[in-house]
Amino acid sequence: MSTTRYDVIIIGAGAAGMLAALEIALTGRVVAVIEAKDRTGGRIHTINYTGFEKPVEMGAEFVHGDLPTTVNLFEKAGIKKHSATGEAWEYKEGALEKRRDFIEDYDALVKKFKSLNNDISVADFMKQYLADSQYEELRASLKNYVQGYYAGDIDKASTYALYEELTGGEEKDYRVDGGYGQLAAWLEKQTRAKGVQFFLLEEVREINWKTLDVEIVTNKQTLHGKKVLVTVSIGVLQSEMIRFSPALPGKMSAAKKLGFGHAIKTNLQFTGPFWKDKAFTRGKKMSKLNFLFSNQPIPTWWTQHPRKEALLVGWLAGPPAESVTTVAKDVVVENAMQSLAQIFSMEPALLQQKLLAAAWYNWSADKHFYGAYSYSVVDGEAIIKSMIEPVENTIYFAGEGLHHGNEIGTVEAALTSGRNVARQLIAQFDSTIY
Ligand SMILES: Cc1cc2nc3c(=O)[nH]c(=O)nc-3n(C[C@H](O)[C@H](O)[C@H](O)COP(=O)(O)OP(=O)(O)OC[C@H]3O[C@@H](n4cnc5c(N)ncnc54)[C@H](O)[C@@H]3O)c2cc1C
Repeated sequence: MSTTRYDVIIIGAGAAGMLAALEIALTGRVVAVIEAKDRTGGRIHTINYTGFEKPVEMGAEFVHGDLPTTVNLFEKAGIKKHSATGEAWEYKEGALEKRRDFIEDYDALVKKFKSLNNDISVADFMKQYLADSQYEELRASLKNYVQGYYAGDIDKASTYALYEELTGGEEKDYRVDGGYGQLAAWLEKQTRAKGVQFFLLEEVREINWKTLDVEIVTNKQTLHGKKVLVTVSIGVLQSEMIRFSPALPGKMSAAKKLGFGHAIKTNLQFTGPFWKDKAFTRGKKMSKLNFLFSNQPIPTWWTQHPRKEALLVGWLAGPPAESVTTVAKDVVVENAMQSLAQIFSMEPALLQQKLLAAAWYNWSADKHFYGAYSYSVVDGEAIIKSMIEPVENTIYFAGEGLHHGNEIGTVEAALTSGRNVARQLIAQFDSTIY
């Protein structure tokens, strides 16, 4: 039971919460971080399970470009990354083909984008601009892209954001040597060294507040402080599992308008990279396989190319992932194995013999996330602006979904949002006599 009166209590020990804690603690303020899980990192979740050749990412895996906040922290922490390269392939109508673009008929799409006068949802865009039967494949590939990459719903996803993303030029993707978990571990270490107190395995249930006075009720205790910074996922905010008193109806209705995507990630470790063996690729040379797209129950797959690990990652995202929130582990892995057996035209028993270990995470079924990551919606900028406006210099919100821009939904977004809101919070301390 803590009797301390904290300057700032932060809810959530993910990337946003921990970087914010560090920034605030560096100014000498007394900070507590409350985290529902028994670990820090949140959606950065690198595991070291027996049977896998190397640490495996259950959550964030890629660094999407040369992102300033992430790169800066990696340098400080001595964390290295390597390029994720290789070829994209597609399994379609029983054949494996190399894929040129992520989107079919890219040039036709760009022309249609250019005729758009205001932002609309991707579903409306397809209805209004791509209704003709000649665009059937393009519609399917756009929907797959929004679901697969954004983990998003075409009824909510912003067409302007999609346009920017698709025409913004190729960005280089990287993976983190040894796993993203090192960033979480480094942030926790730095933060603890600055005196920040962590309360793990404590789920916040209520926030009772008045100006510069907050009472945080968890499943174990009540903590008191001057300000609270809430960094839980948009999914958790939308669920209203944290009760504010007095209530914040404006914030809650804004949160519900934001887009929060769903995903189930399955990591399968095999005895060797069978996808490099022409016996299983219908004679195709797929030794540089990076991404593989299909129409199977687990539709998207990727390797660790150019690294040699015999690991395949299966990805089911968007509304189809939301609708399978209750499936058991065996069902997920079985679906994944069946998908692979079909794609590589392999006897399921043979594939099973090659499987060494499996690990999966259904992020939507976990009440501390209720989904995977955010995507841009129509009017998203205005909604995010209203969400990050502090309530009476007392209640603040940050996290990956409250960062406006192309990086929304990423570790970079979480870090940037956490840091920016922390700086705003610090400045507002300085402008009061407290
Ligand atoms: C499957 C998957 C793949 C991803 N891939 C990538 C990728 O390749 N590249 C990339 O950059 N990003 C990726 N992301 C997104 C990235 O992981 C997130 O954007 C980022 O980690 C979010 O950080 P955050 O601090 O905003 O939120 P979180 O990490 O969610 O932190 C919030 C914390 O709040 C805690 N919490 C929730 N409710 C309560 C409560 N009531 N009381 C106390 N604590 C609570 C949670 O346990 C959590 O630890 C991926 C995410 C997932 C799920």
